[in-house]
Amino acid sequence: MQRVGLYAWGGPGTVRLLKTKYHAPRIDEASFMNLYEPHFLQQAKQKLGVTDMWVTYSWGFSDTTERQDRQFILDRLPHFHANDIATHAYIQGLNLVTDEFANADVFCRDSKGRLLPYSKGRALTCPNNPHARQIILDRVAEACRGEFDGVFMDNVMFGLPPFLIRSDHTSFFGCSCAHCQARFQADYGYGLPLSAKVGQQQIADYLNFRSQSVMTLVRDLADICRAAGKQFGVNLYDPYWYASDFYFGYRLAEISAALDYYLIENLALRNGNHHLAPMLAAARQPVFVVSYREGIGRDAAYPQHVIDAIWSEAAAMGYAPCLKATEYITRGVWHALDIDAVRPPQIRPLQRAVSTHSLSSLKASSRWERGLVRLMDGRYPLFATAAYENRYLARLLDRLGFATRLMHVQRNFTASSGMLLAD
Ligand SMILES: [Zn+2]
Repeated sequence: MQRVGLYAWGGPGTVRLLKTKYHAPRIDEASFMNLYEPHFLQQAKQKLGVTDMWVTYSWGFSDTTERQDRQFILDRLPHFHANDIATHAYIQGLNLVTDEFANADVFCRDSKGRLLPYSKGRALTCPNNPHARQIILDRVAEACRGEFDGVFMDNVMFGLPPFLIRSDHTSFFGCSCAHCQARFQADYGYGLPLSAKVGQQQIADYLNFRSQSVMTLVRDLADICRAAGKQFGVNLYDPYWYASDFYFGYRLAEISAALDYYLIENLALRNGNHHLAPMLAAARQPVFVVSYREGIGRDAAYPQHVIDAIWSEAAAMGYAPCLKATEYITRGVWHALDIDAVRPPQIRPLQRAVSTHSLSSLKASSRWERGLVRLMDGRYPLFATAAYENRYLARLLDRLGFATRLMHVQRNFTASSGMLLAD
């Protein structure tokens, strides 16, 4: 059966998250509250042939705050069963809302002990931190007790991505909390390199440490889901674009065995997903691809020809199309997918492109790169915090599309390191 996905954050938790994540957002709340109602689901089935939906279970608020969010989706599961749509309980991964965990030791730290912000009001959490880890394990186990078909964890993202990585020099990345320091010392016999992880061996050790830490958590989560008879998936983002072991801390070849399907989230709507061809050829699982133009929270409602293009590319390349059903921002208002405006996609033939990717060894750093890294290292968390928390700066940077641009710069830096280069 051809699988078709909708990436569908909805309900009261999603409205609360938007208010946490952005400064005074204007929200069409009804559109998020109606996303799991029979009318939406019937239309989604009839027009798009939707088989799978990722639905909001936990956004990283406290259990007390989220009780109503979880009940909201549990109460609506019969609507999905009636329309033969599989549900994947969406659980936010390695980050939590800072106000809700103000006195808890759950967060990642940089080399100076500061939090690593993930958005306004949220910070990254560490897979080596027993408390942070337990929160995710408990949430996945709890979701497994509901009538979902699967459980999905977003943001398998171990600390910050490196701003730059070279054979002899790198910017701070990952996490330097006390738990990471103790574990690295125990596993490798020397102290965690806190700032510039100088030397190829230390960088290799740290990349290995990072991916092993992530894998230990992912395997435990997959075991919980398997034991409960649920599908398990994580957001892989785009392992080709972002050289996943640098950027997120996982390795596709290792994580693959734990996953019942792949979900790729990327910004390929403009240029296409031809670079994913090797992955599609190698994957044993179904691959869902959800592509944006500018990113989550930056795209206006898609016109019909964009939906047609997504379905056409999916048909030509053999992946499962996944449409985002949430966090559109049209004329300044946040809203979910307007299913009444969608028509059944028209599939047009596309040329199948061939992609190759090459591996080469790391380059040595240049003087200006080392200078740039020194400049960035101490200031990055401070700058990121200000960029999210100060409403004027946040608005200015949003207007400039700064976050997307920074991701492209980071992507180019990691890609130019030569580890994984598509096309
Ligand atoms: Zn840590």
